[in-house]
Amino acid sequence: MSQAVAEKSLKLKDRVILVTGASYGIGAHAALAYAREGATVILLGRTQDMLEAVYDRIEEEGLPQAAVLPFDLGCNDEEKFIELADLIAREFGRLDGALLNAGVLGQKAPLDSYKWAAWKQVMDINVNGQFLLAKSITPLLELSEHGASLVLTSSSVGREGRAFWGAYSVSKFAIEGMMQILAEELYDSRNIRVNSLNPGGTRTSMRAEAYPAENPAQLTTPDQIMDIHVYLMSDESKHINGQALNAQPK
Ligand code: NDP
Repeated sequence: MSQAVAEKSLKLKDRVILVTGASYGIGAHAALAYAREGATVILLGRTQDMLEAVYDRIEEEGLPQAAVLPFDLGCNDEEKFIELADLIAREFGRLDGALLNAGVLGQKAPLDSYKWAAWKQVMDINVNGQFLLAKSITPLLELSEHGASLVLTSSSVGREGRAFWGAYSVSKFAIEGMMQILAEELYDSRNIRVNSLNPGGTRTSMRAEAYPAENPAQLTTPDQIMDIHVYLMSDESKHINGQALNAQPK
């Protein structure tokens, strides 16, 4: 295949996509998958050296140069989110997509003994940080010429409550609600589609923390769920809005 043909067939050529939780786990793989389809990815997470490792991998593969954006979504400071969006605006001018994938598991315990500090930490990162980020980047998504895609990461326990999943489960229910509201508010008037994606059980450190006795070798790998991640950022999903999707059969 000639280089011109190969480039033309790239699904995310010249798109600018923000990926949160890009330092490891599903987010790191999604960032790489988007870059392999021609996107410039902005890698957000707290652990700078792990973000840089993903950046280096993208460089080694000769893909569009990424950007590293160390940021704590649990910082509880709206001003910092506004500064973050301003920085992206200055450097890139717009966003064509955002995968809000970062999250924490918190405690696994019954609600009547769930620690308040753990509850607040999960809510700060998994709910408040998602809200503040979605709010601050909406004007950047609106500037996409392609119709931007905002993907919020959910979970099975965000669609049906399950004992001992505590704040994590409640936080993912909140994400589903936020997705439905944003999908109604942003699609028709601002050409931004908003969907939620449940990765399903996937071999990552979070999964190992949630199920320590499980054999990780039997789990789906992050690479195996990348087709739907790419699809949701590409023009193929232009008419998908307000949907609660699954990356794996239930
Ligand atoms: P991991 O724990 O492996 O990765 C989580 C990512 O989120 C890391 O990059 C981490 O980076 C980032 N992150 C955590 N807290 C913050 C914060 N305060 N600010 C910025 N970034 C943060 O999780 P997975 O890859 O397994 O999960 C990704 C998403 O998929 C999550 O939303 C999770 O709830 C969801 N999910 C996962 C499933 C699974 O089986 N793996 C199943 C269902 C849903 P850093 O520490 O550098 O900040």
